[in-house]
Amino acid sequence: MAIAELPLRPRTSSHQGPFVNEPFFDFRHEDNARKMRAAIERVRGQLGREYDLIIGGQRVKTTDKIKSLNPSKPSQVVGIHQKAGKEHVEPAMTAALKAFASWSRTPTEERASLLFRAADLLRNRKMDYMAWLVFEVSKNWGEADADVSETIDFCEFYAREALRLAKSEPPVQLPGERDSLTYIPLGVGAVIPPWNFPCAIMAGMTMASIVGGNTVILKPSSDSPTIAAKFIELLEEAGMPEGVVNFCPGAGASFGDAVVSHPKTRYVAFTGSREVGLHINKTAATQAPGQVWIKRTILEMGGKDAIIVDADADIDSAVEGVAQAAFGFQGQKCSACSRAIVDERVYDKFLDQLKARVEKITVGDPAENSNMGAVINEGSMKTILEYIEQGKKDGRIVTGGERATEAGEGYFIRPTVIADIPAKSKLEQEEIFGPVLVVIKARGFDHALEIANDTEFGLTGAIYTKSRDKIDRAIRDFHVGNLYINRKCTGAMVGAHPFGGFNMSGTDSKSGGPDYLYLFTQGKSVAEKTG
Ligand code: NAD
Repeated sequence: MAIAELPLRPRTSSHQGPFVNEPFFDFRHEDNARKMRAAIERVRGQLGREYDLIIGGQRVKTTDKIKSLNPSKPSQVVGIHQKAGKEHVEPAMTAALKAFASWSRTPTEERASLLFRAADLLRNRKMDYMAWLVFEVSKNWGEADADVSETIDFCEFYAREALRLAKSEPPVQLPGERDSLTYIPLGVGAVIPPWNFPCAIMAGMTMASIVGGNTVILKPSSDSPTIAAKFIELLEEAGMPEGVVNFCPGAGASFGDAVVSHPKTRYVAFTGSREVGLHINKTAATQAPGQVWIKRTILEMGGKDAIIVDADADIDSAVEGVAQAAFGFQGQKCSACSRAIVDERVYDKFLDQLKARVEKITVGDPAENSNMGAVINEGSMKTILEYIEQGKKDGRIVTGGERATEAGEGYFIRPTVIADIPAKSKLEQEEIFGPVLVVIKARGFDHALEIANDTEFGLTGAIYTKSRDKIDRAIRDFHVGNLYINRKCTGAMVGAHPFGGFNMSGTDSKSGGPDYLYLFTQGKSVAEKTG
């Protein structure tokens, strides 16, 4: 039976209740660790396979290929992918438009049931999906768990949100009229995710799109197309009709650019760097011949996130929070702490304790569940090492500062702490996106807050202090989309911490929050005369 003919299974009773976050595995339990090792071996046996473009349900081959490599072991091919070029934009758009005609009229309950089924399937194969992340982007087990759990959360959360939106309260009723406001889909969206949450962000933007009745051209990052291909397989198994998501790995500058500028592209959901986000914003703002709408852009971009350590902070927990937020997934999170801004009265104590904590971090193959794996690719490793060299001139290396060659052939860099970095310097202002933390000395809380706010970005931030006054000041004046008090600045949870940043960190779309689906719909007001 063709995929499109598969009936969508109805929601199961387990989905009737309120949303709850997917629990993480505790790998201190040997049973969980044993199952994870088995999943890694299962996936290891599937490495190097070839995956096709999927346009309107059809498998398409291309001459050019994308090779996805294991950053911890670049000689190991994770997957070989077809490479969509400009010539594939038109067929993908035609397929997406065709699917839109029926998918946009499919009842919300049915669309939501697709997401619930995808969540169920993913839950059943969670460790295998985690293992793909271990190989494709060098996530350790815990980081891979967080990524796949968030994917499940997005499916469950957006399905419930779509059902809520479909039943939203009627507007004010004028006498002699029946007045309604409904949220209808936009059209065909270009979904362009990054490689760093290659399952959760890719799936989150895609699920929010399709549950609202839109159809999608999905261009995953060239560094992580395999996990996206596995997710599309799962959607097909869950009963997704042909053409609803068209899977097109390809280069950003050719295929990506051409999709963004296509006149029939109705919106772009992008997460990635500031530079590419701004470029997409500009391209999307230009009316193409035949284009009859203003393209909507949902752009989530970079960060230069700071943790403020106040003089009266609990230094032990500040050190732990900074170490985890700076070096989890090798510092390659938009929310990663890349600046610790520390009151001069506790500066030396904080640095001594931080050095001892960071030197306990193990670097190596994440298949063995080391604390830190490799950075994503060679280009990224070179850029990070250049920043470190600059840091040696501008500041003082406390620990790290070089490649971790003993960890193997991969792109391993030691967790690096650079102290005495001046405010406004390059390392204090630019997103490094690697395992590099700069530490800045502040004269006091006001000065710390001033430094924290003085970059182009405004994504996440945290403050460690025991003072209620300072907490209240931070709540008012620390200008970030996601602020954390006395805890680390990474690890946003769907539902509890709607995520998105201010300023050059993006359009503050607040993924995983109650407003997110509005971005993927348009409100239609109808007034019908009754009397
Ligand atoms: P990137 O900007 O290099 O690439 C992101 C995506 O855009 C990729 O799929 C890429 O192929 C595509 N692309 C590149 N050029 C394009 C073009 N001209 N037209 C269309 N698409 C194009 O980012 P990355 O290296 O994949 O990801 C890291 C960045 O993402 C960091 O800056 C990080 O802070 C940011 N990020 C932000 C968030 C957030 O929620 N704010 C979350 C995760 C990552």
